[in-house]
Amino acid sequence: MEQFGLFVGGDYREPASGTMVDDIDPSTGRALACVAQAGREDVAAALEIARRTASSWATRSPLDRAMVLLRAAELVTEQREQLAELEARDTGKPLAQARADVDAAAGYLHFYGGLADKIYGESIPLPGDAFAITFREPLGVTGHIIPWNYPLQIIARTTAPALAAGNVSVVKPAEEAPLSTLKYAELLTQAGLPPGALAVLPGSGPEAGHALASSREINHLSFTGGTESGRAVLHATADTIVPTTMELGGKSPNIVFEDADLTEAIPTIVKALVQNSGQTCSAGSRLLVAEGIREEVVERVAEVFGSLTLGPGIEDPDVGPLISRRQHERVQGYLDAAEADGARRVGAANPHPEEGFFVAPTLFDGVDPRMRIAREEVFGPVLAVLPFRSDEEALALANGTDFGLIAGVWTQDTDRALWISRKLECGQVYVNSYGAGGGVALPFGGYKQSGFGREKGAEALREYTQVKTVAFRVNGPS
Ligand code: NDP
Repeated sequence: MEQFGLFVGGDYREPASGTMVDDIDPSTGRALACVAQAGREDVAAALEIARRTASSWATRSPLDRAMVLLRAAELVTEQREQLAELEARDTGKPLAQARADVDAAAGYLHFYGGLADKIYGESIPLPGDAFAITFREPLGVTGHIIPWNYPLQIIARTTAPALAAGNVSVVKPAEEAPLSTLKYAELLTQAGLPPGALAVLPGSGPEAGHALASSREINHLSFTGGTESGRAVLHATADTIVPTTMELGGKSPNIVFEDADLTEAIPTIVKALVQNSGQTCSAGSRLLVAEGIREEVVERVAEVFGSLTLGPGIEDPDVGPLISRRQHERVQGYLDAAEADGARRVGAANPHPEEGFFVAPTLFDGVDPRMRIAREEVFGPVLAVLPFRSDEEALALANGTDFGLIAGVWTQDTDRALWISRKLECGQVYVNSYGAGGGVALPFGGYKQSGFGREKGAEALREYTQVKTVAFRVNGPS
């Protein structure tokens, strides 16, 4: 079985404790690889190396930094198939989705490589001959805590802008799926990133994650994951007053008005939910539908659900397994709770392999907005249908959870689309489309308990820089 160490100082090394753990293949429940577990000491060592590397990377010419990231984008693309297979095995996701993730990772490196030498300040006129200029400076050492659902995409999404802006990064991937993040660090080093500018430390959240989040040696922390862990991380960074980006969960709606083009809408609604087996922060897990077309929409969505194939990610089915036994039990608990609360399950469960952590796509009709299935993030392929009778009711339902990540709006009426887009309490709105996980160039992040700060797009560079203002009072000729 393949063994992976910690990636620190441009190479693999053993953890100080010598601890190695099995990395489980969710399609079979058996070990796929053996991975080093970082502890407090390893995190401290990686941060020290990062600190020593910080000024040389920050003072490299912006064009040099750009070229390293652009070369890394090429290397990721060259390794597309190998990376996709690794990601499919480690996370269970279908190969087609894993390939899309590799393309997105290369896309981030390309996008931020292109911006690395275009991070400009401003000039601000002041009274008389005075003026001020601003510099966008790197923060120093950035910490990154990565979840298991899109490991390769998310390490690229957060480290590419950080590195482009002249920071160095230390990353704690999720225990369940660390392999592609280690390969990513290898490829960036191969592309010319200085050893020490990017470390990847697999390990547990409460130990390695907490050591990173609570360290005084980081100058910024980017967290992507669940609300509960996010809260623990925020407590840690509050103590050290470290700026923190929080990308948490969602309960995102697809809102289908009576005039929607259902031929376009139905396949997108299905994909928005079943992509990555529903384990996507921006999964479209609520279907808000005009009462007049509810029956037809439910029937058509259930029909597509029923046609989906389930299997190991590496065999490229429509839907792979969930990430772990724990997640499987958690999702099963939500299915039981929905039925106990009186929601009506539509359609039969698709056949799937006996071993592995599979849950068939499940549609619940007759959902009341107070039910858990309507309010909480399930993180599995479970869709809750809620009918509405007016545009105002659709808006109230859409905004009626603690989350606010993204929304899809399906209508042919531009006025209605614009009206509701402005009123929705969420970070992204898609009109007649749905962009879970997509759009490298589109600023992304939450309202309300979906988090704060923005990843993706040029906007993310604001998160990974700090602004210095220098004001001049000019004395003219006497
Ligand atoms: P977590 O939020 O726990 O995992 C995200 C990352 O945070 C992992 O690397 C994890 O480490 C780390 N972590 C956990 N606790 C701490 C801590 N105290 N300090 C620092 N880092 C920590 O996700 P779970 O696996 O527990 O999933 C729980 C739920 O979270 C899911 O069911 C889903 O609802 C949501 N979730 C949302 C995601 C999103 O993209 N919005 C992504 C993943 C989960 P470790 O390796 O130990 O897990």
